[in-house]
Amino acid sequence: MKVDMKKLFAISLIIITSFTIFAQTNTPPALSSIKIEDLKKDLYAHADGHFKGRSAGTLDELKAAAWLAEQYKAIGLKPAGDDGTYFQFFNMWRNHLTDNSTISINNKPYTLWKDAAVAQMANVNINAPILYLGNALDIDTSINVKDRLVAIVADPKGINMQVSLPTWRYSRSVYTKYGLPLVRKGAKAVIFIADETAEKAWEDASENFLRGNYDIDGGPNVNVNTTVPVIWVHANVKKELETNNATLKANLIISKYAYPSVNVVGKIDGTDAKLKSEYLLYSSHTDAHGVRNEIKGDTIYYGADDNGSVTVAMLANARAFIKYPAKRSVLFVVHGAEERGLLGSRYYSQHPTVPIKNIVAVLNGDMIGRNNIDSATFLGMFSPHKNSTDLVNMALAANNEGPKFKLDTEWDKTTHVEGWYFRSDHLPYARLGIPSIMYTTLLHPDYHTPQDNAENINYPKLKKMADWMYRTGWKVANADKRPATDIGFKLER
Ligand SMILES: [Zn+2]
Repeated sequence: MKVDMKKLFAISLIIITSFTIFAQTNTPPALSSIKIEDLKKDLYAHADGHFKGRSAGTLDELKAAAWLAEQYKAIGLKPAGDDGTYFQFFNMWRNHLTDNSTISINNKPYTLWKDAAVAQMANVNINAPILYLGNALDIDTSINVKDRLVAIVADPKGINMQVSLPTWRYSRSVYTKYGLPLVRKGAKAVIFIADETAEKAWEDASENFLRGNYDIDGGPNVNVNTTVPVIWVHANVKKELETNNATLKANLIISKYAYPSVNVVGKIDGTDAKLKSEYLLYSSHTDAHGVRNEIKGDTIYYGADDNGSVTVAMLANARAFIKYPAKRSVLFVVHGAEERGLLGSRYYSQHPTVPIKNIVAVLNGDMIGRNNIDSATFLGMFSPHKNSTDLVNMALAANNEGPKFKLDTEWDKTTHVEGWYFRSDHLPYARLGIPSIMYTTLLHPDYHTPQDNAENINYPKLKKMADWMYRTGWKVANADKRPATDIGFKLER
């Protein structure tokens, strides 16, 4: 057989050249298998109206979880949930006010949520006069409020409204600033009379109140532990209350029951006989905000960026690791009920399906598909949130080698108003001392609205983020030594 020397030379040159490029740029081997088309196709499916906003505890979240498990299977992930499945089901406890709860003022019945909204639940049966204290700013602190039902007019002064979701947060801020001091002095109920800001926030706020509280066993909201209800009424009720001879009758009944949620867990075995018992964990969440108040003609809160963007980036990373497995095993956990208080990640970190000590790092992401294509960040980069200098250095190197994002450094500061480090699924793992970071492209005006949809995602940017997560993950999963947890790391808010 005749050997074509010219051809052989050409082939060896190509091999040598690609090997050199490979070594120089640290490009992980399956980078090209992360494709914009896949990200787009997956996100349009996962954030489709069919799943009705994937609200935690509903059939919609479970359906979306089943869809995810199908993708895991198609990609070739091994089941790593309970009983040889991709699923780890868990119970949430939900407390909410029953529909037969009643409120009336001066014997006039108020329609729950429309005329009166209960911001803080309590199992109470009250029939007592209301003590009117005037505007929140002018409360006479010498008045004895012990065992009294007090009414005050809300005021936004001194409350920072330059935050995300101001309409979701206003009532809580007003309560903390003006209501809580009265409760500490013994007030038995607080009635807030809505100001202009609260009137604007009414629909969003009562939508959240009526859903109630959710928690898992061991959490602070499993039982409603206050006996002091907080009730909001509209601005026009002021004239009835300011005469100071009005009476409140309230019969509030809390219903508590178990509600299902699920983590979707798959894995890819490592290739190294020893290191395969260790796991790199990729983290996202399934749930979004369901069907709610209409905004710009739509009622489905699709959660495409939050957090479909990360979920589909994980699927893309999974395809890459299937193509070229790493030395360590890789675990993919899409958590349930993140929006209800990081419940899925709190549950998984307490009931891990692999030995918790063998999880070497957590790469979590929350919202990675919006804003300028040149900038992004990860939280956990700076102390006191930074818990592993090794992991931070890997993520920084991966950025330099690949997407070269200009990294935001403001959002990881403890002084940042959003306190965002504490608001996503890496947190329960970080609290256990596992090296953890959270990728993000930060907030945008469509956050928690129906306009957080698949059409509004910046797909070339989402690909850059998926690349970055893969580059980091490849380093973590192949490093000779697992990233160390910084000595003395302690999370303080
Ligand atoms: Zn999220």
